[in-house]
Amino acid sequence: MVQAIALIDGNNFYAACEQSIDPSVAKRPLVILSNNDGCIIARSPEARELGIPMGQPYFRIRNKLERLGVIVRSSNYALYGDMSQRLMNLLDENCEGIEIYSIDEAFARINRPSNGDLHPWARRLRALSNQSLGLPISIGFGASKGQAKLANHLAKTRAFHAGIFDLINIQDQDSYLESIPIENVWGIGQKSAHWCRLKGINTAKQLRDIPSNQLKAQLGIVGIRLQQELLGQACLPLATTPSPKQTTCVSRSFGHSVTSLEELIEAIATYVVHASEKLRRQRQLTQSISVFIRTNPFAPSFYSQEATTRLGVPTNDTTVLLPTALALTRKIFSAHKQFTKAGVIMRHLQSADYQQQSLLATYSQEGQYRRDQLMRTIDQINASYGKGTISWACCGLKQHWNMRREKISCAATTRIMEIPIVKA
Ligand SMILES: [Mg+2]
Repeated sequence: MVQAIALIDGNNFYAACEQSIDPSVAKRPLVILSNNDGCIIARSPEARELGIPMGQPYFRIRNKLERLGVIVRSSNYALYGDMSQRLMNLLDENCEGIEIYSIDEAFARINRPSNGDLHPWARRLRALSNQSLGLPISIGFGASKGQAKLANHLAKTRAFHAGIFDLINIQDQDSYLESIPIENVWGIGQKSAHWCRLKGINTAKQLRDIPSNQLKAQLGIVGIRLQQELLGQACLPLATTPSPKQTTCVSRSFGHSVTSLEELIEAIATYVVHASEKLRRQRQLTQSISVFIRTNPFAPSFYSQEATTRLGVPTNDTTVLLPTALALTRKIFSAHKQFTKAGVIMRHLQSADYQQQSLLATYSQEGQYRRDQLMRTIDQINASYGKGTISWACCGLKQHWNMRREKISCAATTRIMEIPIVKA
């Protein structure tokens, strides 16, 4: 059976998630702000049509947004992460295999029907995503990932394709490839695009057709692979089982600068709790924990410190990781500094399926079992009733240092108390 590679991508994903849980902002101009309500990082199509630019600092454009009646939301990553997982589950159920590529994108393997036409399948998938998640998606088909990426670009950028484009099953592939600027080819970064333009390679088609030795001299084997992919030879296999993570990091900029050790400890404790939860979800243990803090790098007397502890026995137990991290925090803290960012990094991760013991550490199997059960219970309660239902006292209650998120939407899909109410 002939298989095709699809790239399936959520359109204006963050804005679409917000519109999906709140009908009052559907089909309205809407922008999403980065952490600490800094810049515009996503727009609904309606906001784009009004000419609201990406990346613009909020304080600078605030009045204009108000004048134009644009709705503003702080980024709600709990919502986007959860909606992403739902979208990926839907794709997994409907495709032969998927590789999650980013929060709103996945490559998928699809069996091509005997008449070759994938449009009915794609229309059904779009309808399913719309109906069950309220998320619009675009679908591009090719014989390789590189082609699927281009096809998705064509699906999205031309309204009459209605969000679906098949680069293989068309008459005039070359004219389409000719319409795609070199900068939009997957794998071509700013530097390579600059070289291509100098060489007169301005479109995806020209890149596909240049002699491969020229390409190899400039871009190496990566360039050759890229060209092969454009020709429809799949060089990059679909990674359907993600490789286990080597590192986990939780870090944030503070809502206002932090000067006291007490506040810094609250922040670090919160990050450790979050990172340990992540480890348990990934079924991993860490062998080392690092804490870093820094002041504003653009202000005078910049201060930045990091400290690490290597753990005797790898763990994902919050009761072990918390005191270790807090001891590191006390070590690197310095008074009279205005800290703007801090974080926790866990390195040398390993699978939780095998627990390596230490000759030097005392170990009680029963004690370990009880602690594992405790962690599992806390995780289950927080998963059912919302993050932070059970928290650790050292994380603090008020968390004044926390990010500014003045315009955040509710946790409609992850917190039972905030589930939207439908009146019929
Ligand atoms: Mg997208």
